[in-house]
Amino acid sequence: MKNTNTVIFDMDGVIVDSMPYHIKSWKEALSTIEMSVSDLEIYLMEGMTGRETIDKLVSKSNRSLSDETVEKVLKLKRKIFNDIFTVKLMKGIRDFLLELNSRKYHLALVTGTRLEVVKKVLQMGLDNVFKVIVTGEMVNNGKPSPEPYLKAVHELDVKREDCLVIENAPAGIASAKNAGLTCFAVETSLPGEYLKGADRIFPSIDDLSKFLINSA
Ligand SMILES: [Mg+2]
Repeated sequence: MKNTNTVIFDMDGVIVDSMPYHIKSWKEALSTIEMSVSDLEIYLMEGMTGRETIDKLVSKSNRSLSDETVEKVLKLKRKIFNDIFTVKLMKGIRDFLLELNSRKYHLALVTGTRLEVVKKVLQMGLDNVFKVIVTGEMVNNGKPSPEPYLKAVHELDVKREDCLVIENAPAGIASAKNAGLTCFAVETSLPGEYLKGADRIFPSIDDLSKFLINSA
């Protein structure tokens, strides 16, 4: 990766082991409107904003809900998530980020999750690691739209061909590729068959880290 000087990280399932909490809170919130959802469905929508996720689930179920109901369920999902979420960083990610930082890479974070949750994650010793952070409320269209990653590239003021994106979900990979960026995926949530849009797939953060550090 000799041209890469910028690495843009997705957050959920890449930096923080948060997907089990998202799944539990979506299931509980949706059960209040008698709607059920599988783990896989949620993993496949990972990266979209909360509002986009619920809109997609509702349209898939052929139901029509008032805006008020949708907002209520979304608010409940966020409340449950905030109540149960405990920050646990993905294995090996902090050392990897600090190593990239010490090698003067530009680092950014691009997530569909809200800033209040991102702040809790950054408190785990990652305060000054990212030069640019793009959260769910900062974009009009979440992943798989290219908007979140393009916003990060613009704010970093770097060339697209110098950037590498790290993702774990199909919508995030599509967003990065739609933005014209190289994207590596890690199989931390889904097996490789769902991640085929990526330029390269690694079983874990540690495998990715070894590859990047050794080829730098
Ligand atoms: Mg993710």
